[in-house]
Amino acid sequence: MKLLISNGHLIDPAAPENTGMNVLIEDGKVTAWIKPTEQQPEVDDVFDASGLLVAPGFIDMHVHLREPGQEHKETIASGCAAAVAGGFTSVCPMPNTSPVNDNAAITRYMIEQGERAGLANVLPIGAITKSSDGSELAEMGEMKAAGAVAVSDDGRPVPNAGIMRRAMQYAKDFDLPVIDHCEDKSLSTGGVMHEGKMSLLLGLKGMPALAEEIDVVRDILIAKETGAHIHIAHVSTKGGIEAVRRAKNEGIIVTCEVTPHHFTLTDAAVEGYDTNTKMAPPLRSDEHLEAVIEGIKDGTIDAIASDHAPHHADEKALEYDRAPFGINGLETTVGLALTELVHRGVIGLERFVELCSSNPARILRLTDRGSLTAGYRADITILDPDLEWTYINSESRSKSRNSPFDGRKFRGCVVATIVGGRFVFKK
Ligand SMILES: [Zn+2]
Repeated sequence: MKLLISNGHLIDPAAPENTGMNVLIEDGKVTAWIKPTEQQPEVDDVFDASGLLVAPGFIDMHVHLREPGQEHKETIASGCAAAVAGGFTSVCPMPNTSPVNDNAAITRYMIEQGERAGLANVLPIGAITKSSDGSELAEMGEMKAAGAVAVSDDGRPVPNAGIMRRAMQYAKDFDLPVIDHCEDKSLSTGGVMHEGKMSLLLGLKGMPALAEEIDVVRDILIAKETGAHIHIAHVSTKGGIEAVRRAKNEGIIVTCEVTPHHFTLTDAAVEGYDTNTKMAPPLRSDEHLEAVIEGIKDGTIDAIASDHAPHHADEKALEYDRAPFGINGLETTVGLALTELVHRGVIGLERFVELCSSNPARILRLTDRGSLTAGYRADITILDPDLEWTYINSESRSKSRNSPFDGRKFRGCVVATIVGGRFVFKK
């Protein structure tokens, strides 16, 4: 099976010249770039990408697909359908399923469910500790052999510095990045939004920025001592970003990601008590949002990840205090990044592709993804950077509807998604 993507604007951060090349795909891999003026090969199918961007497939390194255990919120199949509609060719589900993904059997099960769905690649993240309860290390080597690409106790951060140190020593032996949800629960427990003027005004208990910052600093110190690779998940605070920036300058192996809601919304959105503005880490105040934008601009932030966290409508219908944390994000991430970052001039298209594809691939050691150089997997995201569209929650492919972006207009959208040389989504 030969496919030619012609007349598109190819954006590949790995390539020096990256415009106006046709991309030839054979048997699920990229085999060549051909100038449109040259003789074109005989192929089975041609996709005309005139006016469109052709990028290496986007990798969402932080999602919650809820299977096994909470299939009423999402399944791996429904989550992958939302992923490819959102332009993602690979997704990394966090291990906070039920049971927790802390062993090779569950890692394998998740991968198999992804293969059965036949949409996005599913690259699971294994737990750091058994049941993510923070006490005993999980079998990282076995999970890696089964296909896990990182370890994390996302949502239930390891409270004990001694365990975290052992975890990093162990993860380093297996060349696995440790993805760190930084939240000192002794500072944040009971909080439902960012602690500040807004939480006082609304009469809601706050989670201080310090809860994140203290853990970022602690775990960077442990990474420095152990030489392990630490990746800070959904960084949301000024102090957290500054700590990462300093650590990078010192040569510590640290990377970090940001979610679209943290570069788009502030805690002002909580006014009105819409439970679709409740997530952990919470929406922060202006100064933190500005620090996030600065981190995106100057390269401190390595990746954009949705932190897609579906919840059933009945749960989100509870009062603000009692509703669960988390929002959907797979189908709005690309629209938000293009609208809020690219079109506002914060970053260029090449940096956008780096944040969504080549950097996540590098962080997760996915040596055959994140570029469209010959020999790489034919995982491709095709975008119209200027097409305006409106996100309608009720049309989502996800099983859940908990997005604060219902009815929001975006500029820039996903036109087609190709996984392993096969179209899995076309608008
Ligand atoms: Zn988290």
